[in-house]
Amino acid sequence: MLNKDHPRYESLVYREKIVEAHKNGILADSGMIAHGRGETFDYLIGEKTTENSLNTIEVASCYFLCSKHPVLSVNGNTTALVAEDIAELSKLLEIPVEINLYYRTPERIKNIEKVYSNLGVNEILGTDDDDFIDTPDLNGPRSPVSIEGINKSDLIFIPLEDGDRAEKLSALDKNIINIDLNPLSRTAQTSTVTIVDNIVRTMPLLINNVNNFMDYDKKELKEKIDKFNNKENLNNAIQDIIKRFE
Ligand code: ATP
Repeated sequence: MLNKDHPRYESLVYREKIVEAHKNGILADSGMIAHGRGETFDYLIGEKTTENSLNTIEVASCYFLCSKHPVLSVNGNTTALVAEDIAELSKLLEIPVEINLYYRTPERIKNIEKVYSNLGVNEILGTDDDDFIDTPDLNGPRSPVSIEGINKSDLIFIPLEDGDRAEKLSALDKNIINIDLNPLSRTAQTSTVTIVDNIVRTMPLLINNVNNFMDYDKKELKEKIDKFNNKENLNNAIQDIIKRFE
C-alpha cells in the first residue's frame, strides 16, 4: 500500500501501474526501461505541464478536430498508463484505436485488445484478425499497419513511440502528433506536433481541449494550427529544461 504523504506518491502510483501491466502481459520488459527514461525527463521539466506544452496540447486538439481520419496508435506503455483516457478520446471523436507493438506476441495483442474492448472502444485495429500493409522502409513487427486504420489515416497519434517507427511514419504524407517527455528524441524531432509532457497529465488536458473546441469554426482552429511551429515548440521545451539548472 502506497503512502499518500510520500513526496513521490504520484510517481510511485504510475510505477505501480507499469509493474502491474508487466505482470498482466501488457508491457514488454523494455517498456519498463522506456518508462524510466520518461521519468528522468519529467524530473528535468519539473514534473508539471509547462505553459509551452499547454499551448501545444491546444494545437494538438485543433489537429484532431480538423482531420478526416485520425487514428490513435497505442503500445504497452500507453495502455498501462492511460487506457481509460485513450478510450474516452476514441469515443469522443469516434476514431479507432490501433495496437502496434515493438515486441508483438499474440498474447500481448489479445491482452491489450481486451483492455480497450472492456472500456467500450468501438473499433480496435491492429489485432491478429486485421488486414495489414507494411510501413515503407520499416522492418520488424512494428511495420505492419491496418489497411483501414493508419494506412488510410491523415493524422496519427503516436504517444511514447520509438524513433525508428516515428521517422518512417513522418516520411508519409500524414500529420503526426506525439507525446514525448524527451524533446531530443527522434520521435519528438520528426513529428508534426510534439507534446513534451507526461502522458498522464496530457491526456485529460487534451480531452478537455477537444471538448472546448468541438463547436468552433474550423477556420479558427486552422489559424491556431498555422501559427504553430514544432521547431520553436521543441526549442522552448529545451529552454524550459535549461532554466531548471540556473
Ligand atoms: P528515439 O526516439 O530517440 O529513438 P527511443 O526510441 O530510444 O528514442 P524509447 O525509449 O523507445 O525512445 O521511447 C520511449 C519514449 O517515450 C522516450 O523518449 C521517453 O522519454 C518517452 N516516455 C516514457 N514514458 C513517458 C511518459 N509517461 N510520458 C511521456 N513520454 C514518456
